[in-house]
Amino acid sequence: MQLITGTTKLLGIIGDPVEHSFSPVMHNKAIASLGVDYVYLPLPIKPKDLAVAIAGFEAIGIVGFSITIPHKQAIIPLLSEVSDIAQGVGAVNTVYRTDRGWWGTNTDVAGFISPLQAIDRDWSQTKVVILGYGGAARAVVVGCTQLGCKEIHVIGRNPEKLSQFQQSWEKTPLPVSINIHPWQELSELVPQADLLVNSTPVGMYPDIDSSPVDAATMERLSAKAIAYDLIYTPSPTKFLQQAKQQGAVIFDGLEMLVQQGVAAFKIWVGQTPPVDIMRQSLQEQLQR
Ligand code: NAP
Repeated sequence: MQLITGTTKLLGIIGDPVEHSFSPVMHNKAIASLGVDYVYLPLPIKPKDLAVAIAGFEAIGIVGFSITIPHKQAIIPLLSEVSDIAQGVGAVNTVYRTDRGWWGTNTDVAGFISPLQAIDRDWSQTKVVILGYGGAARAVVVGCTQLGCKEIHVIGRNPEKLSQFQQSWEKTPLPVSINIHPWQELSELVPQADLLVNSTPVGMYPDIDSSPVDAATMERLSAKAIAYDLIYTPSPTKFLQQAKQQGAVIFDGLEMLVQQGVAAFKIWVGQTPPVDIMRQSLQEQLQR
């Protein structure tokens, strides 16, 4: 256990609630392993207290912090600068104190693409099909544009929200346009997908016998496809089990969770953390 002394620098996670966050254990294990003089604390903050809390962080010299629900968008007006990536996603999950004030970014994008970048593949011909249009889907969209994917198709069950999702990118134009589709077109799109991403919570514990894609449609998934479920518990999800049966390469959400933390840690501490220790800490917390 690292000793907290008079010189220890503060990091933390703000949210409401934060009690269930895996980040404190993950980051404190990385801190202890590197032997750097930091501590990462859970900082529960109600929405009404956000502005006063951030002013307090300034006063006590917090180095940086993670942001979880419900503050990922509300924090933006309280920052001096927001990275292009976070502007694109429309949400900030990592803040760092600079000489010019608070700087915010979004490391979910780096987290999402990290396992994909490890594959030796030309992404320029890739057709992506994304299920869902929530916060995580926004990081997936930006990540797919960073990879250089050719086409992005988003499927959702609510036509109004779907069209709002498409319109929301008008402020931050992307290198590829976003095609939106009602849920009824799932059976047509799944066979065309090179990369199929589940960004809905369907199949997440305890709903482990559900998949967002019905069995007959999943049987038409290409054996050359990659199936990526952002869910990390259970692993594999029903969606990934179905895709694996078709011969697809599969990824669950654990690596995204690890790598968004790795990217944040590098920003705050300026050193590469021990990725294996961070991954293992999450696996232990998820009891894998
Ligand atoms: P969110 O903002 O609540 O969005 C959820 C999306 O799923 C919405 O588009 C919602 O559509 C759709 N959806 C929900 N139930 C559905 C159903 N039965 N059929 C079709 N669509 C459905 O949530 P999020 O933050 O994007 O998170 C989505 C998933 O990603 C969660 O499982 C979360 O745990 C996971 N995630 C993982 C990581 C990671 O690091 N691995 C990071 C972020 C999120 P409606 O609005 O129409 O309900």
